[in-house]
Amino acid sequence: MSDTRNTHAELARRVAALEAERALTLRLAQTDSLTGLVNRGAFTSALCERLEAARETGGTVALFVVDLDRFKSLNDTLGHHAGDLLLAELGERLRGDCAETEIAARLGGDEFAVISDVRDVARRAQRLVNLVSQPQMIYGRQVSPGASVGVAVFPTDACDASDLQRFADMALYRVKTKGGRRYSVFDAELRAETERRRTLEEDLRRAITAGEIVPWFQPVIDSGSGRTVGVEVLARWNHPEQGLLAPAAFVPMAEELGLIRAIDEAVFDAACRRAATWVSDGLIELVSCNVSPRDLLDPGFSRKLIGRLQRTDLPATALTVEITETFLLQDLGLARRHIERLAARGVRVALDDFGTGYSNLRALMHLPIQTVKLDRSLICDVGRDARVSKLVAAMLHAARALGVSIVAEGVEDEAQALFLRSTGCDRMQGYFFARPMSGEAMDAQLRAAQAQAEPVRTPRRAAR
Ligand code: C2E
Ligand code: CA
Ligand code: CA
Repeated sequence: MSDTRNTHAELARRVAALEAERALTLRLAQTDSLTGLVNRGAFTSALCERLEAARETGGTVALFVVDLDRFKSLNDTLGHHAGDLLLAELGERLRGDCAETEIAARLGGDEFAVISDVRDVARRAQRLVNLVSQPQMIYGRQVSPGASVGVAVFPTDACDASDLQRFADMALYRVKTKGGRRYSVFDAELRAETERRRTLEEDLRRAITAGEIVPWFQPVIDSGSGRTVGVEVLARWNHPEQGLLAPAAFVPMAEELGLIRAIDEAVFDAACRRAATWVSDGLIELVSCNVSPRDLLDPGFSRKLIGRLQRTDLPATALTVEITETFLLQDLGLARRHIERLAARGVRVALDDFGTGYSNLRALMHLPIQTVKLDRSLICDVGRDARVSKLVAAMLHAARALGVSIVAEGVEDEAQALFLRSTGCDRMQGYFFARPMSGEAMDAQLRAAQAQAEPVRTPRRAAR
């Protein structure tokens, strides 16, 4: 009998211990270890719960996002440990300052948030700015990082958690770009900005299906003969009201919205179809297409690209895919697989914007890249500035030693062109030769050049 009682008591003890452990694990999973505040995951669920409750009771929820103004420089000068101490102290202050009904969270880095039910948001925001700006002693030094606060309110500004966060972030961003140390409340100006973005987003989605985003072409010149041997495909948006838009006006937005793949595919298909006849008529040999670094993180990228290419009449050996090194170095293994898969079909890969990053020599050393495109920023002083000229000549030499061909981009005058030709640069492109142009204009120019060069030559059919 007593044995059974003992067993029951033991069992109850174990269950209690397990439950305590589970509660601790749960709390730890919801807590930011440095500050002891609620972490980002728990913050998001808490915000959703508060909004749900406010929806039922007709209450309001104010979201304050708090960001330190000079945390990075403090971290860099005093070290990471000092940075951690500073954040821990701020966590302590925020916890002490929050009412029972408020929730303080650390969203990551030097970003904090407070969920509150206060009505006077301006006063609460100012209090947060003051609280975080108070000087602190760290390693015997007085530091005062300063803080900016962005605020958005449910239901006045936004109806759900993600909009509320987005709008508070927009307010924060605005105050930070104006120098920080203050708060900013989401308002009509920011609402107009969200409207503008939404219109652009809707416009962009419509434009893709309506075929308004089209390939333009810039000639690529062979340095030796001075002939056009290829084209680079550059996207343009034929906007019904705003006219012709360059990628800078829509590519960043498209990347943010996840629309860049649809754009790249539409431009790629149209460009390959158009350029296939130029290749088969012997007018050019090479077609270069840009792809978004994000697309390249898709393991199926090269397979899909080959599939799309096969649906056009462009021979694989005429295609070069231009990629930037940002992607390559994120995952060298994946990059290699893509490049090898493309190479097996005869598709070449060019490293774009070469000379702008820190580590593209590494990409060049470790990956089977066939072409590099020297960035415009290097080319602009070539032939004028002796140091830049020497550097570019050395880069050309190094690339040649690796068996890589070189295209210089952004060639704008004769001095640059002459220098590049004399140092053995294979191909060039830039305003000096031709600006990007529509498919029709490119077609006319290529055919005129051919008629002038060889008036009686019959077209050569390119091998498939
Ligand atoms: P990029 O690949 O470096 O393309 C070269 C850019 O330099 C083009 O700008 C071209 O018009 C411009 N350019 C060419 N020669 C000269 C010159 O002599 N002087 C000057 N100042 N500029 C010159 P664009 O067309 O505005 O394209 C900008 C960037 O947008 C491209 O840079 C490329 O990264 C991206 N892009 C273009 N088309 C596409 C596309 O279809 N998909 C993706 N994902 N990105 C694209
Ligand atoms: Ca390019
Ligand atoms: Ca480039």
